[in-house]
Amino acid sequence: MQAFVYEALPVRVVFGWGRIEEVAAEAERLGMRRALVLSTAGRGAALAEDVAARLGGVCAGVHPGAVMHTPVSATEAALEVVREPRIDGLVAVGGGSTTGLAKALALRTDLPQLVLPTTYAGSEMTPILGETEGGKKTTRRDLRVLPETVIYDPALTLGLPLSVTATSGLNAIAHAVEALYAENRNPVIDLLAEEGIRRLARALIELRAAPEDRTARTAALYGAWLCGICLGSVGMALHHKLCHVLGGMFDLPHAETHAVILPHVVAFNAEACPEAMAAVGRALGAADAAKGLEQLARSLGIGRALRDLGMPEDGIERVVEAVLEQPPWNPRKLTGDGLRAMLARAWHGAPLGTG
Ligand code: NAD
Repeated sequence: MQAFVYEALPVRVVFGWGRIEEVAAEAERLGMRRALVLSTAGRGAALAEDVAARLGGVCAGVHPGAVMHTPVSATEAALEVVREPRIDGLVAVGGGSTTGLAKALALRTDLPQLVLPTTYAGSEMTPILGETEGGKKTTRRDLRVLPETVIYDPALTLGLPLSVTATSGLNAIAHAVEALYAENRNPVIDLLAEEGIRRLARALIELRAAPEDRTARTAALYGAWLCGICLGSVGMALHHKLCHVLGGMFDLPHAETHAVILPHVVAFNAEACPEAMAAVGRALGAADAAKGLEQLARSLGIGRALRDLGMPEDGIERVVEAVLEQPPWNPRKLTGDGLRAMLARAWHGAPLGTG
């Protein structure tokens, strides 16, 4: 066995069906007396109102102002609310966009965070914050943004539309896949990654047939949790870098972008990391990792082309330049020609390739 470093992150996790009932007790445990509940607008706001009611007198207000890719402007608007009535804690209910807003606020105020995830994005398990300003997404690692407590209640994911369930699930699987070939990978995270992919992939297929199945919803959220730990614990590589650049540059939908790109990056990297590919293949029950991921995406009805997500074709060159300007660690050496060819395949929705 190779030498390694393993660093555990200090997050309290409360997992299980109906555990939303403990939100007031968990907020109190963090010393909150005037908590602000955060969410996105629309469906997210209804969930936030439910959480606010459960918090009772501890809730000082609801702010449904979270936006995809955590624009700094949305954080500044929320800061006004946080400062006014002397908020002493943040309760985020929603997907990665809502968690992102809580983290951005915690970075600037050091307020404690209690997060109730409703998608499989995994942000709640990481000390990573991505913020967007002027079409550029910048990422930082800082323990101040790591939530103190996370309540995983699968009942909160029941309303997640099947399309979001699928793409969000692939987003989570991407964390585990890149953890398996991370520069600082370690055997503990390898275990979580393979198991996370296995649980989530199986549950996503079951949910396609029965979206409200409690056992499958629970397994999916459990798998997503494991994948989130992977993202928070080891460094990522080309796949995450590409998705960040694409999201920031063209405001592409986060989870859908991950879902389209993942099989292409895995095919591109495959030869350079055979052990990781074997683990992904085992988890999916597939002989070839990239084809297994592509097959999973197809069977979940996920689109195959970046052009369908709104990326302009002349954007390929800009993405190549942005990636090579600050190249990520990656198991395979990155070249302009290699990236260009892979992005062109992903843009057109063409078959996987390695060149
Ligand atoms: P999201 O939070 O924007 O949610 C997607 C959509 O689903 C939204 O319209 C939301 O209102 C809706 N939704 C969420 N939960 C629902 C539910 N239970 N029922 C019905 N509708 C629901 O998207 P996301 O994919 O969860 O998160 C994406 C964001 O998270 C991006 O900004 C990304 O950069 C960030 N992210 C960050 C990290 C990190 O570690 N920093 C990790 C993963 C994702």
